[in-house]
Amino acid sequence: MKVKVNQDACIGCGACAAICSEVFELNDEGLSEAKTEDVKEENKDEVRDAADSCPTGAILVEE
Ligand code: SF4
Repeated sequence: MKVKVNQDACIGCGACAAICSEVFELNDEGLSEAKTEDVKEENKDEVRDAADSCPTGAILVEE
């Protein structure tokens, strides 16, 4: 699984980082970044939850 954050769409709500801090963090501009593009097995469910919870659909997941 691969994940990316579309920073043009992110509004910095922090939901993704709250759901999966191992993968998402807010950068200096207050926008989310994926710490790694390749998602570990144990983080996949949380990454899917984060993508579903993102209010702007900014999290792009490739299964
Ligand atoms: S949940 Fe979406 S809008 Fe909120 S910080 Fe994460 S990527 Fe940005």
